[in-house]
Amino acid sequence: MTATPAWPPQSAPRLYVETALGEGVSVAVDGNAAHYLISVMRVKADEIVLLFDGASGEWAAKARDIRKRDLVLECVAQTRPLETTPDFWLCVAPIKKGRIDLIAEKACELGVARLQPVLTRRAVVDKLNLDRLRAHLVEAAEQCGRTALPELSEMMKLDALLRDWPNGRHLFFADETGGAPIAEALTAHKGPAAFLVGPEGGFDPAERDAIRAHPAAVPVSLGPRILRAETAAIAATAAWMTLNGDWAKE
Ligand code: SAH
Repeated sequence: MTATPAWPPQSAPRLYVETALGEGVSVAVDGNAAHYLISVMRVKADEIVLLFDGASGEWAAKARDIRKRDLVLECVAQTRPLETTPDFWLCVAPIKKGRIDLIAEKACELGVARLQPVLTRRAVVDKLNLDRLRAHLVEAAEQCGRTALPELSEMMKLDALLRDWPNGRHLFFADETGGAPIAEALTAHKGPAAFLVGPEGGFDPAERDAIRAHPAAVPVSLGPRILRAETAAIAATAAWMTLNGDWAKE
């Protein structure tokens, strides 16, 4: 009996594109993505590249018309349908460059559906480069096999976030001053959720009161140590995925 060779090849590069994909669709690729495929991955004619557009699942595409700085990828077969992303948002105060980038990358890998930057009073950073953050989300999605990109929202002020909070979505609040143990809180509150994590300086007392007063808020503790904001965001997401997300599924 001959073994069936793996198709598409496991080594096939994976690329996010903004073109809507489908049977027979050709995507012209240039710029950094073309450089990566042609010069770094050394893709040759007829080799397979996996594509996803965030909406149409994943497609095996054949490389053709390879030139120095551009090539064409033609979809030949769908390899995976669009994934269902667990209904979890990560709401984080902006923090310094490398650290917020780390949050974006890990949030994507861990399966977050939406990343919502939230401006709080003690934030040391009040501007965010959304293009850079988005590039980190895309790169992480390419690497980890996601077929849907996490949604990246414009930064909102905390009071606006609380005012416009959707009905039926739990707002787990990582409160360094104390709250319910996380496993207990997550087990008691299943369904659509978000985690809110503060900046380096934490939340100020008035903010903490306003969050705690919100009907959707569930204050939780992430243990006896003060975590850095990025550690808290990543750890809280992993805990939610473990107990209420898709880590338990086959
Ligand atoms: N400077 C603050 C700590 C901020 S830590 C202080 O010294 O009190 C940044 C954010 O991470 C916090 O706002 C909170 O949302 C989260 N966080 C850190 N450690 C936590 C813990 N043990 N429990 C719950 N949330 C925590």
